[in-house]
Amino acid sequence: MTEELDPLAEAHLATLAVRAGQVRSAEGEHSEPIFTTSSYVFASAEEAAARFSGEQDGNVYSRYTNPTVRTFQDRLAALEGGEAAVATASGMAAILSTCLALLKSGDHVICSRSVFGTTSVLFTKFMGKFGVEISFVNPTQIDQWRKAIQPNTQLFFMETPSNPLCDVIDIGAVADIAHATKARLVVDNCFCTPALQRPLSLGADIVIHSATKYLDGQGRCVGGAAVGNAEDMDAVLGVVRTCGPTMSPFNAWVFLKGLETLQLRMDAHSRNAMTLASWLYEQRSSQQPLIEQVFYAGLPSHPGHALAAQQQTDFGGVLSFKVVGGREQAWRFINATQIMSLTANLGDAKTTIVHPATTTHGRLSDQEKMDAGITENLIRVAVGLEDSRDLIADLQRGLAAIVK
Ligand SMILES: *Cc1c(COP(=O)(O)O)cnc(C)c1O
Repeated sequence: MTEELDPLAEAHLATLAVRAGQVRSAEGEHSEPIFTTSSYVFASAEEAAARFSGEQDGNVYSRYTNPTVRTFQDRLAALEGGEAAVATASGMAAILSTCLALLKSGDHVICSRSVFGTTSVLFTKFMGKFGVEISFVNPTQIDQWRKAIQPNTQLFFMETPSNPLCDVIDIGAVADIAHATKARLVVDNCFCTPALQRPLSLGADIVIHSATKYLDGQGRCVGGAAVGNAEDMDAVLGVVRTCGPTMSPFNAWVFLKGLETLQLRMDAHSRNAMTLASWLYEQRSSQQPLIEQVFYAGLPSHPGHALAAQQQTDFGGVLSFKVVGGREQAWRFINATQIMSLTANLGDAKTTIVHPATTTHGRLSDQEKMDAGITENLIRVAVGLEDSRDLIADLQRGLAAIVK
């Protein structure tokens, strides 16, 4: 770190999100530049040889290092409180690269049942193909993690709060179980971001991000990252360097701009989500309630409320609820909204609404859906940054459509 950046050693999250990782060039630019270059020139044949052999630090080729991507990595590492970060082409690439770095044939992974659908496909279909064993557990039942341990268990994987029911998992408790068996705990921190939850400080070993979601925050680019200690990240970078799921400098720059407003946005997402969740919750006590249940950890009625209040600084932007009825009523509700976007994405300034049972969780069997609590009357809303009064008017349009 240069002397200029030393004041950041004690800085708080919002400051780090704006300033960490920036290295100004001789041009004195204020905003971070985008280095759109695939390779780098060397001053001499001797320097080229030293760079290639690793004797000398410095850029060689943008598949493994690029100044804009490095700034994003260093800033995210600072926000998560990790020694290092490795940026990847997508969130899935971050999970895959972490698995390729830390697992070998014959190893065993214990994974929360409530993870992003594609994550479980990655484990079962692709890691499974290379001889990695996988067990899924009900993540809020802490004992299940312990009972699933085998002599070859190497990795625990979870996401908290879960999608779409906002189950909150005790990161510290699961980390203790993982460490007692010398396994690593990996936490996908996509829903909270470091603005609301810092898993490494709670005992996790590696944090995963889909930067596509809240780190960008405006639905523009696909990207991801892993954050952890220097040794693990060296191993992950080795995979990225060789296998090539690299983040583009342009995307890194967009994510850097996203990070500058991360704290502000996460606070606003949480505030809006709390307003909508409370409004939906109140509808339950009307004369003929059209809302059956609301899932948002910010509500004191939610089973994960106390734990979320302890391990998060706020409750985030995603909530879900059950309408009275089944698929027909849920679809009518969704089709009647006019402001919210009907899309499965989340982490955007624009509010999104989706029917999990037939979209994000449509691949699950009926039994799996039942186990996961994904019923036909469930609707998920990822609350954006619009005025909450307009979003409530949209929910009112949805409710009106159910009675028709
Ligand atoms: C979207 C998402 C991913 C995958 O990220 P991509 O950037 O789409 O590859 C992983 N985990 C969670 C929780 C997600 O929401």
